[in-house]
Amino acid sequence: MDYEKLAQDLPNILESLEQYYMTTYLDTSGAITYTNNLFLETSKWTPKRVLGKTIWQMFPETTEGQDQAHLIWEQLSSKNAWSGTVEKVNRFGEQYFVNMTAIPIHYQDVGLVSIVLFEMDITEDVQLRDRLEKIAYVDYETGLMSRHSLESTVNRLIAKQDHFTFVYITIDHFYTLKDLHTDDEAKEIIKTFTNRMKRFFKDDSIARIGINEFVILTQFGSWYVEGFLDFLKMHPIYINHTALELSVSGGIVRYPEDQPTYTHLMKTAMTATRETIDQGGGRIRTLSAASHKKLNRKALIDRKLQTAIIENELQVVYQPQVDVSTGKVILYEALVRWNNSELGTVSPDELIPIAEENGFIHKIGAFVLKEAAELAAKWQAEGHNLIISVNSSVREFSNPNFKKEIMQILTKASCPPSLIQLEITEKFAFKAEEESSIFRQMNDLQSEGIEFALDDFGTGYASFRYMQDLPISKIKIDKFFIQSISTNVQTKKLVEGMIQFGKSMGLYVIAEGVETKMQYSILKELGVDAVQGYYLGLPTSVQNINLQTGN
Ligand code: C2E
Ligand code: CA
Ligand code: CA
Repeated sequence: MDYEKLAQDLPNILESLEQYYMTTYLDTSGAITYTNNLFLETSKWTPKRVLGKTIWQMFPETTEGQDQAHLIWEQLSSKNAWSGTVEKVNRFGEQYFVNMTAIPIHYQDVGLVSIVLFEMDITEDVQLRDRLEKIAYVDYETGLMSRHSLESTVNRLIAKQDHFTFVYITIDHFYTLKDLHTDDEAKEIIKTFTNRMKRFFKDDSIARIGINEFVILTQFGSWYVEGFLDFLKMHPIYINHTALELSVSGGIVRYPEDQPTYTHLMKTAMTATRETIDQGGGRIRTLSAASHKKLNRKALIDRKLQTAIIENELQVVYQPQVDVSTGKVILYEALVRWNNSELGTVSPDELIPIAEENGFIHKIGAFVLKEAAELAAKWQAEGHNLIISVNSSVREFSNPNFKKEIMQILTKASCPPSLIQLEITEKFAFKAEEESSIFRQMNDLQSEGIEFALDDFGTGYASFRYMQDLPISKIKIDKFFIQSISTNVQTKKLVEGMIQFGKSMGLYVIAEGVETKMQYSILKELGVDAVQGYYLGLPTSVQNINLQTGN
């Protein structure tokens, strides 16, 4: 083939492709530099507004959506093409589905220069498939109930107040197993396995809910279910006349004793299965009491959080930070507290991950910032020169309007931006480096006068590259290192190195979690700029803060 001629014809080929495919070009930071009309029609963007938007903004804000975007991006960054089905969102956040082929354009001497995405809208097909699946009450391959009929069967049993055992079963290492066999053999394994289940759980309902995942509804307790594993050993599955060593894991939940709804039963049974697999697999077991308690508490937190703000249950406490050279408090860190009558005090370490998962973090962040901004403005009016530092989560920054919302809150509280500092974690920094929208918003906030501190320094991904690129002016060495600074020579050396590193980058270095006089003296000697911790002051509610005049 004449490749030179082909190269000349390439524009022609692209033109033809563009007639049929939505086409988007991205730069190496993931920002859109060109789209064709087909793309604009489906995505509802206007040509002017879409430019500069990032690939991540085209994906749903859900964890799965963002994870998929990252997966694709990673693949492209390492100069590999990607192709598959993708759920996307249009300008108004409405979902649509495409078949996407993403191609990195790179040259030997300059590396990656651009990325082109060709997409075909398949929303109608996906919706049709969903509808068909809903109609299909039977799994085609095995004749077992489908996920849909399982759900309605469970709901029917619950409505009748029947007692039953919900068993989730999966074949361990099925994908390895599949690799070792032909497609037909893999189908045969599933089919025979199904027959074994039908023979053992004779009068029970059995559903297939995934490639190698099944649910059984039975009247019997766990002793009976566990017997299935022995039955399987006595009746092995033969493939090509050889007995297959099949290992099976599962989880057992009782209705109504353990969980009240289909979703809860499913979630709990899956968690129990995962627990079993983590411990080596090959067993069917109930969820351990400890995990049960944890899961229920998580569900309760998730639910109660929705009303926490209206019910006035959130509170902000403030912890002082002391500048070592002057010995004065220069800043307070705002930390959220939640007291609920049923749950008691929920620590941020428990609360924040759940809030990040269910999206409530946006409301918590806005609440803490508003409280902090009002307090900072009040203190300034009283003649105190104090900054308030607020923790922010990367989920908040994935909102493209985050900067605007921050500025609105500050304006409403009459708080100059220079009185507010934001703390971000290394996990955050890692993501910000990839997402130009986060990066841009940080830069904009910095130009408004808001400073950024890198929290929990030393515990995360520790990429020094982002320290160079992101607008960070302070680092906070994590309390993990401070804890053993007076007892472990290695740690002391490590902290000394971190301080020197920070200083060489022109950063202000803070040590957090300082609990003893000894730790404080060592840190002072090592040249740290500021300290924070129980030794210098506990987090306290604003009523209990006693500001010295002249502070
Ligand atoms: P962080 O930002 O590293 O906050 C410092 C944590 O260490 C706080 O825990 C504080 O009470 C605790 N602490 C302070 N001094 C000492 C000490 O001397 N020794 C020890 N052992 N601990 C000390 P807290 O309040 O439970 O917060 C935990 C984490 O939750 C915070 O870690 C922060 O990442 C997150 N968080 C707290 N409030 C918020 C918030 O409003 N928004 C967001 N996004 N995250 C928050
Ligand atoms: Ca912090
Ligand atoms: Ca910290």
